[in-house]
Amino acid sequence: MAKLDAEGEQLRVGVFVCQCGHNIAGTVDCEAVAKFSETLDDVVAVFNNKYTCSEPGQLEVKNAIDEHNLNRVVIASCSPRMHEPTFRATLAGADLNPYLLEMANLREHCSWVHMGEPEMATDKAKDLVKMAVARARSLEAQDEMIVPITQKALIIGGGIAGIQSALDLADAGYKVCLVEKEPSIGGIMAAIDKTYPTMDCSI
Ligand code: SF4
Repeated sequence: MAKLDAEGEQLRVGVFVCQCGHNIAGTVDCEAVAKFSETLDDVVAVFNNKYTCSEPGQLEVKNAIDEHNLNRVVIASCSPRMHEPTFRATLAGADLNPYLLEMANLREHCSWVHMGEPEMATDKAKDLVKMAVARARSLEAQDEMIVPITQKALIIGGGIAGIQSALDLADAGYKVCLVEKEPSIGGIMAAIDKTYPTMDCSI
């Protein structure tokens, strides 16, 4: 069912299915995923391309935003860890708020983990795209802000993890305040009378 966004604008979602050469297309039926994407609510344009992160691939995204007046973009490709910044920049380059982007991970979550199971990988890819489109339909434009940060750390709990974190942060040059509710630090470790491998007392 067609939906309006927070600004009262009709949603227009574009889906870009990336083949990653043979990396995704060798297992996932990208054509079938693209066809399925066309059936999803508010999807107005679907593309099935070879390398979406390449210069021609990004140009295709920019042109499609322009041509189809897209206001939400779903890139079905690899992990957002790898290319979310790339595609956010692509959206910004097309005068679209970069936070109106959603990614579906068809490579790490489908083709790589379900190699030899093309049907299952393709079904999962369709589900991931469906979820990404559903989320994209709820995205709102965001503004980036620069906020002042207090360059100090508060560590609550003086067990072994708290002590080590405090030492590491202090070594990195930060002022650290370690808070412990008991009269002494050490936590459970302090109650152990021998520790491996030296068998020394832990205190
Ligand atoms: S966007 Fe990701 S999945 Fe697509 S070609 Fe680039 S690296 Fe491969």
